Amino acid sequence: MKKLLQYRQKVRTFILDTLFPISCLVCQTQINRWICPSCLEKIPLQKEQVCPICERIITPKGEVCFSCRKKNSIDGLLVCASYKEKTISRAVHYFKYRFVEKISIPLGKIMLKSFLSFNLLLPDLIVPIPLHCRRLRWRGFNQSQLLANYLGENLTPGFEIVVSKNNLIRKRYTLPQMKIKNFKERQENMQNAFAVLRKKEIQGKNILLVDDIATTGSTLFECAQTLKKAGAKKVFGIVIARQKSN
Ligand SMILES: [Zn+2]
Ligand SMILES: [Zn+2]
Repeated sequence: MKKLLQYRQKVRTFILDTLFPISCLVCQTQINRWICPSCLEKIPLQKEQVCPICERIITPKGEVCFSCRKKNSIDGLLVCASYKEKTISRAVHYFKYRFVEKISIPLGKIMLKSFLSFNLLLPDLIVPIPLHCRRLRWRGFNQSQLLANYLGENLTPGFEIVVSKNNLIRKRYTLPQMKIKNFKERQENMQNAFAVLRKKEIQGKNILLVDDIATTGSTLFECAQTLKKAGAKKVFGIVIARQKSN
């Protein structure tokens, strides 16, 4: 059954690619890639990282600064690029709202490059930010899971890092954070929204928490807290970019 589904998916992709050849969304070159190698190369990566909580103090790899540190919270967040870059915002839009699954590849490459350039600690486990099943049905895929898979396969050549699946889950259906303007309401919207199903997978692990875009960061912080409470040793986040909430 699974094989048949995969086969049908392949046929469908083949037909779509033949009828509508893909061109680079930046330079429009027909190259059958969503971002061609030369446009991908040109995307500037974030050189400086800041504390993800106050967003004021510069820290070497995006670690949380001393005064923002507290128990059970995220240890740091690597922001790979700027949302102000047109290529980034367009690619993310195609990914999230036009359901172009394959954009996970160039976006994953950006994440990989940034991760390696900051020389982050290799994680024991990669955990994607979960989608509620209602949103998953609507989009058809979890964009964070695809990015997490890309990192799991490519962070250490020849050795895959385990990517967690359906362990950190979203218990409640929450409003999309973008729709809530007030910071406090955003935090409340996220409270107790997540749970860990299998603590054993999490316990004592250094975790890389993957999301596509962060706004206030409250989703990431809440997930990090849930993972820490389940016994995670360290939780470091990675996102493509951070979008200002207003
Ligand atoms: Zn191009
Ligand atoms: Zn801080």
